[in-house]
Amino acid sequence: MVLFLELIVFDLDFTLWDAAGTWCDHTSPPFRKKGEVVVDSRGGIISLYPDVNKILTMLSGQKIRCAVASRTGEPEWASQLMDLFDITRFFDYREIYPASKLVHFNKLKNESGIGYDRMLFFDDEMRNVDEVGALGVAVCHVIGGVSLPLVEKKVNEHGVHIKTGKTLKSYN
Ligand SMILES: [Mg+2]
Repeated sequence: MVLFLELIVFDLDFTLWDAAGTWCDHTSPPFRKKGEVVVDSRGGIISLYPDVNKILTMLSGQKIRCAVASRTGEPEWASQLMDLFDITRFFDYREIYPASKLVHFNKLKNESGIGYDRMLFFDDEMRNVDEVGALGVAVCHVIGGVSLPLVEKKVNEHGVHIKTGKTLKSYN
């Protein structure tokens, strides 16, 4: 089956970033940008995984919409971190609140009008991957953060661009 991808959904903690070795709701604002990383009030270092900007730029160039689905207990902190890393602009939809990710995906489907069979989801927690996969979303369990080769592989597995009908090119 060829899946026509229209929306790629990313978890935040341990998928797009490492929040000082824990989840962002366990960090300690205020946050401040320091070079490429963000530092919290206890000196904890929050960093995007190295390929994140390349991945989001690549997907944006391919005109594939992106979303965030996070169940963090501190949505405002997560939004601040996204702004400090300057990645908010890449996401068409942001569902950030504590709940089963079934809630996040139901809202994403309703807001975007995109069916589950046209979504691809990256998350580091198996419970989320299993729940969302059961909806019919293509899922990828992430270990050690997303990487460009991983995203390219999964997109190409499922990837004929819905708007052009062309197979997605590899990012160089
Ligand atoms: Mg996570």
